[in-house]
Amino acid sequence: MVGVVLAGAAWVTLYAVLMRATRNSPDASRLVGEVVYLVPIAAATALAVYAARRTRQRVGTAWRLLIVSNSLWLIGESTWAVYSYLSPEGAPVPSFADAAYLLSYAVALPAIVIGLGLGVLGRTQGLLDALLVAAGAAAIGWQMLISPLVPSTWSAAALVTFLYPVFSVSIVSILVAVLLSGAQHVPRSMIIVGTAFGLASITDGAYAYLTAVDRYESSSWVNLGWQVEAVLLCVAAVVAGRRAESDQPRAVDPDLAFLPAVVAVLAVGGLAVADLVLVGRLSLVTLAVTMLLLLGLLVRQVVATRDRARLTQGLRTAAITDQLTGLYNRRFFKEMIDVEAERAVRHHLPLSLVLIDLDHFKDINDTYGHSVGDAVLTDVAQRLRREVRGSDLLCRYGGEEFVCLLPSTPAPAAYELAERLRQTLRGTPAAVAGVAEPVVLTASLGVATVEPGERGRVDTDALIDEADQAVYRAKALGRDRVVGSGQPSPTAADPVTDLPPALVWMADRIDRALGDRECAAAVSRWAFRTASRLGLDDATQRRTAAAARVHDIGRITALATQQPDRPLGGRRADDPGHPAQGARLLVELAARPDLAPLVAAHHENHDGTGFPYGLAGAEIPVEARIIAVCDAWAVLRADDSCPQEAPVPPGRDALVEGRGTRFDPAVLDAFLALLDDGALDDPAHYGDHPAAQPAAHAPVGADDTPRTVPR
Ligand code: GH3
Ligand code: MG
Ligand code: MG
Repeated sequence: MVGVVLAGAAWVTLYAVLMRATRNSPDASRLVGEVVYLVPIAAATALAVYAARRTRQRVGTAWRLLIVSNSLWLIGESTWAVYSYLSPEGAPVPSFADAAYLLSYAVALPAIVIGLGLGVLGRTQGLLDALLVAAGAAAIGWQMLISPLVPSTWSAAALVTFLYPVFSVSIVSILVAVLLSGAQHVPRSMIIVGTAFGLASITDGAYAYLTAVDRYESSSWVNLGWQVEAVLLCVAAVVAGRRAESDQPRAVDPDLAFLPAVVAVLAVGGLAVADLVLVGRLSLVTLAVTMLLLLGLLVRQVVATRDRARLTQGLRTAAITDQLTGLYNRRFFKEMIDVEAERAVRHHLPLSLVLIDLDHFKDINDTYGHSVGDAVLTDVAQRLRREVRGSDLLCRYGGEEFVCLLPSTPAPAAYELAERLRQTLRGTPAAVAGVAEPVVLTASLGVATVEPGERGRVDTDALIDEADQAVYRAKALGRDRVVGSGQPSPTAADPVTDLPPALVWMADRIDRALGDRECAAAVSRWAFRTASRLGLDDATQRRTAAAARVHDIGRITALATQQPDRPLGGRRADDPGHPAQGARLLVELAARPDLAPLVAAHHENHDGTGFPYGLAGAEIPVEARIIAVCDAWAVLRADDSCPQEAPVPPGRDALVEGRGTRFDPAVLDAFLALLDDGALDDPAHYGDHPAAQPAAHAPVGADDTPRTVPR
């Protein structure tokens, strides 16, 4: 780079020396003025080819245009040289040479505009700034350079001579405008090209002046200006080629709001001074330019204000919006719950909260991939949004958790809305582009309400906590349900509550690993109802539910020894050791020896053909007989070929076949009665059995992500 600049400077010096040395010899002087003169122009043309090859994008386009522009210049100068050797008067004006020169400018103009980058013109404000600055610069150029050169009588020659400074001023105006107001990266080579043309405008002005007063000759010092221009074009080409320039956006937009105003003031001031010096009064041009610039500044101000308002609004929206779903984000929810809590206190209005946690969402990611998971979240957000009222605030609370803030809403209405949301989600599978099968999805919802009339103030953290605990209970109850924070928790005396959470968690984990999802929770629910239907006492009912909840935990051994990449082959792949193993775990881990024999016997058959001990009839605890029926029903239901909505449940016959052999007839009859009454899975009764127990605290350090309680 330094080398090129030094070489350029050396050439210009050499040329100046040659000019000076030959000034007394017409032949030598002509040789220097017409032939040696061509060297840097020819070099600039060749180097432009080099630059165009090495640069890309708009810089490349600019350099391809500059090849044309430089070639035209070279053609013009060569023609001029030929003329000066052929005829003693030199080239006539206008001549073919002038046509080439002017064309060269006409091509250079778009080259510079493209090279400097039009990106700035894409924005209204940038365009306005550029226009204002260009107008200001052009006004100065006009007044200083062009206007003194306007010929008194117009001839072809006068017009041509006059056009040079016009082109130069245009180029310089554009250059100044884009350089000053452009927010784009300006390639260094283009700055040098612009400088070259800036110099040319001065040279052209001088040339026009000399021609006007008839003093121009080939050996004129003006030539030195054009030599510098050609040298600068050479330097620019080398710089462009060396750096292999391409478009690169500048990291920071400079704040140039003041610039158009400064340029306008300078332009108008410059015009006024020039007027006063040259004419003695303000000219019409100055007035017109002043009006134009003022109008432009006004429009610019309006546009800038509008843009700023939009930007501020956009930033605010971005800060409170969740990017994926477009819902409000957690931060905004936290802001708003405080605002709404205050309002609730002031007006003695209830405030409710619905927390929605999608069930087994991790499985959706695992099955279909994270991007489908994202699409499902977006779809869920849209469906939820359609269900809530205008006054409700729906937000994405976390990964697969949503929250709805319900101002002025009492508990029953909140519960109703939550139930509607639940049904919406489970009713229609998520539609995801690219996934053929419908993605079935359910959610567990927790509702919490506060009536500030009673308490006087609202602890919003406690309210969120309550909703979260309710979600937690909904999960423990088997998911896909709404639980209100006001719903009574099962008492400590309940046998299921007494189960260590780790065991309940283990039961769920086994269900998930085997693909049965809510099996244990459902079996527990059915077992409780069957026990109740059989008229067994309260304690037995609860014991049955508790044993059913953990009846399969013995399968953990098979799971632990399973090959990671080989599925177990369905939960019912026979594992004859699991009843005894489960019983052992209950004694050793849970200190629940009362449940151990029940779990141990859940695969015994009524006719004594079962395992592990081959017990028969009354030898088998009634709880285990109940679990056997319910577990068998779960297996039948899990069979995908069974349509769930058939009028007679398809598995029913299979159950009946086992009457008296596999199943205790009395137990089976009670179960079938429930099934036929539709009372087995009637959600209206969900709250009435002790399986409605929270898995209190998920074990820490479990491989299954434990729920975090947001606070
Ligand atoms: P549970 O029924 O107990 O709520 O099970 P779960 O799998 O829904 O809950 P868990 O908290 O174990 O896992 C939440 C999953 O949600 C884990 C994470 O990969 C997924 N998730 C969270 N945020 C995003 C997200 O922005 N996009 C996708 N695709 N998945 C997410
Ligand atoms: Mg979650
Ligand atoms: Mg979840």
